[in-house]
Amino acid sequence: MTNTRSNGSTRTLVDPFGRDISYLRVSVTDRCDFRCVYCMAENMTFLPKADILSLEELDRLCSAFVARGVRKLRLTGGEPLVRRGIMTLVSSLSRHLTAGTLDELTLTTNGSQLKKYAAELAACGVRRINVSLDTLDPDKFRAITRWGDLSVVRAGIDAALAAGLAVKINAVALKGVNEDEIPALLAWAHGEGMDLTIIEVMPLGDTGEGRLEQYLPLSIVRARVAERYTLEDIDYRTGGPARYVRIAETGGRLGFITPLTHNFCESCNRVRLTCTGTLFMCLGQDDAADLRRPLRMSPNDDLLNEAIDEAITRKPKGHDFVMDRRHKRPALARHMSMTGG
Ligand code: SAM
Repeated sequence: MTNTRSNGSTRTLVDPFGRDISYLRVSVTDRCDFRCVYCMAENMTFLPKADILSLEELDRLCSAFVARGVRKLRLTGGEPLVRRGIMTLVSSLSRHLTAGTLDELTLTTNGSQLKKYAAELAACGVRRINVSLDTLDPDKFRAITRWGDLSVVRAGIDAALAAGLAVKINAVALKGVNEDEIPALLAWAHGEGMDLTIIEVMPLGDTGEGRLEQYLPLSIVRARVAERYTLEDIDYRTGGPARYVRIAETGGRLGFITPLTHNFCESCNRVRLTCTGTLFMCLGQDDAADLRRPLRMSPNDDLLNEAIDEAITRKPKGHDFVMDRRHKRPALARHMSMTGG
């Protein structure tokens, strides 16, 4: 049975647990110019180009979701800004902002290409972006990303701020790597007028590095920050899973994404599309639906809409990541770069 709710002329997507699906995250490429130790193995095998949806197909898929009531689109990857022609997609998707059928078009990036694209992103109606940055120490940055250059990313962040984009920094908490640096990251981010969100490392894909060795519960991070700063709980939400506090001393916001110690599946409003047109209904489960076939089978969206409806009926109640000594292998075989977080 099709699980939809009528909203004027739009049949919106509602899952079996009554959650409105209003947020689509789209991984536009599985390729990246970094090899972060918690995300990818150093020698990754990438998808053959023939399997990847064209920019026009990605636009059609995103637009089909917008027509079904999705109000927020986030482009991610791999690294979204290394996809050739990416600004053509951003520019064409921005028509939904102009039409008022989309509230937000945004992206998550490692920042390496931001200097080149920040002004263009702002001109396309992008208002805020997330930049992933785990440390301000250039050597540590190189060690974590394997291939990245901190000065390039910092120049990209400066360009984004200069273009008027609101920037949120996302940092993955890594035991013994950046755990002592979180207060310094916070002081820097808030000093630049940026929010900071800390993410627990999730057991996705084999990266050649031990997960238990990387895993740092955010309860510990929070306690450490609280030794230096005053944390005030606030209701601020961005449509994502982060829970925020305000830091009294800086006036800035600090978010926590805690898929392992607490999950927030009951309010999950999102689904994730890969660059091959596979729809994952939950970041923490393997079940998926192929949208590429119905997309390519017909120039109109009837088959596609049927496949989307069917997929949404399979959205699970929640994920079940586990991180303990009995589960040394990743909970899921796929890498984060496939769905983009
Ligand atoms: N390349 C872009 C970037 O760096 O933001 C977008 C894709 S990246 C996969 C999206 C986010 O996922 C980044 O913030 C990254 O740190 C995070 N991430 C990757 N693997 C992770 C893992 N195993 N656990 C938690 N976060 C992870």
